Amino acid sequence: MNDYVIRALAADGYIRAYAATSRDTVEEAKKRHNTYPVATAALGRLLTAGGMMGYMMKGDRDLMTIQIQCDGPIGSLTVTADSHGNVKGYVHNPAVDLPPSPKGKLDVGKALGNGMLRVIRDLGMKEPYTGQSKLVTGEIGDDLTYYFSASEQTPSSVGLGVLMNKDNTVRQAGGFIIQLMPNIDDHTIDVLEEKLNACEPVTKMLDKGMTPEDILQSILGDMQLEFIDKQGLRFTCGCSKEKISKAVISLGEKELTDMILSEESIEVVCHFCNERYEFSKDELKQMLKAAKKSR
Ligand code: ZN
Repeated sequence: MNDYVIRALAADGYIRAYAATSRDTVEEAKKRHNTYPVATAALGRLLTAGGMMGYMMKGDRDLMTIQIQCDGPIGSLTVTADSHGNVKGYVHNPAVDLPPSPKGKLDVGKALGNGMLRVIRDLGMKEPYTGQSKLVTGEIGDDLTYYFSASEQTPSSVGLGVLMNKDNTVRQAGGFIIQLMPNIDDHTIDVLEEKLNACEPVTKMLDKGMTPEDILQSILGDMQLEFIDKQGLRFTCGCSKEKISKAVISLGEKELTDMILSEESIEVVCHFCNERYEFSKDELKQMLKAAKKSR
């Protein structure tokens, strides 16, 4: 397990910071979904943010989903994270092929285009908490920066990056989220802004061999930085034939009867991890029985 997220405080607790390294997580997502490089970068950035935002939740069973609906060729992105470092996600169109941006980078902004970003937190209450904002650049880091300030009234700076090798493996992936707590003084904000402006892109820092600790050190090192804790990060789905079968049963008796009449077997693909589950006619008949029982 090479991937992890760290949590830290600085400036007497007026700054809260997270940083992550996520290469294996992004590589696993790429393999599962056969994403083209620009889609790998987009999904990888969102998975990395999800890993850090999941870590912000306190409850053992809390779940968070980030959804982006957009008019660019990627169509949409969905990432779900728990508070233990398990993340999963997918994009609508994994085969996005775009020329590099004028700066020679993977053009994530163009892959996304315009759209909305939505964050849904299921904290075990009756209703999940939902916040949303418009995409600003489609680069995801900028969009989450805007989301935190516009929708959650928490001024933040989000840096995310995925760097690909020529052979289409993930070379580096990671990011940071730095958040200002209420009543922080202006001088501290000025110092932080200066540091952030001078800071190199995340992938450049990671490629130099810098760890998440080093990244926060380089930004917040002069501001009484204090590391709190860390946890592993991984791509895990948690789907199973049993869970998928429950979902199929919930489609109802009519749907199940139609399947039994018209198909020899059905195949259900988990969106999140691309795992395929097959159900035979006999299994479908058992499921129909279960649907009738639960009526
Ligand atoms: Zn799955």
